[in-house]
Amino acid sequence: MKALNSVKAVFPSRSVNEGFARSVVAAFASTVDPTVDELCDIRMAVSEAVTNAIVHGYRDTLGMVYITVSLYPGGLLRIKVQDKGCGIPDVQKAMEPLYTTCQTGERAGLGFAVMEEMMDRVRVKSQVGKGTTVTLDKKLTTRGE
Ligand code: ATP
Ligand code: MG
Repeated sequence: MKALNSVKAVFPSRSVNEGFARSVVAAFASTVDPTVDELCDIRMAVSEAVTNAIVHGYRDTLGMVYITVSLYPGGLLRIKVQDKGCGIPDVQKAMEPLYTTCQTGERAGLGFAVMEEMMDRVRVKSQVGKGTTVTLDKKLTTRGE
């Protein structure tokens, strides 16, 4: 299926850019007039995916985060959040609610659960040492054309 429209954003894995990423995706989604609830869901899901790229993917290092947002016929919004960081050894396990590798107690292990709750579909591709791509799909209540 060919995208009707698509934008990309690339930024360094600094935590200040998490808000930028959320806003840029919401601004793109706004072009097709989604509901306030849908926009809120999208912002939350993007926030979790980008935070993961920053705090887990790149940990104490700096790397680039790549976002592609596309709109497909029928109002399907697809958001790809990619990092070239450490990767995830066991994706299935990482996606289990309350699973976290964080040792300090700062993280709840609920990021993927939130993404799955907010979006219609969440796919994760990851290779240890190469990085992670999270693809978030949401069907918006709009014609999308
Ligand atoms: P929370 O999101 O609630 O603050 P969390 O980030 O640990 O906690 P999830 O977002 O569900 O929880 O992620 C679960 C685990 O998956 C993380 O603890 C981390 O080990 C791994 N992970 C997630 N995203 C990435 C990524 N982009 N690169 C490497 N590891 C990741
Ligand atoms: Mg997380």
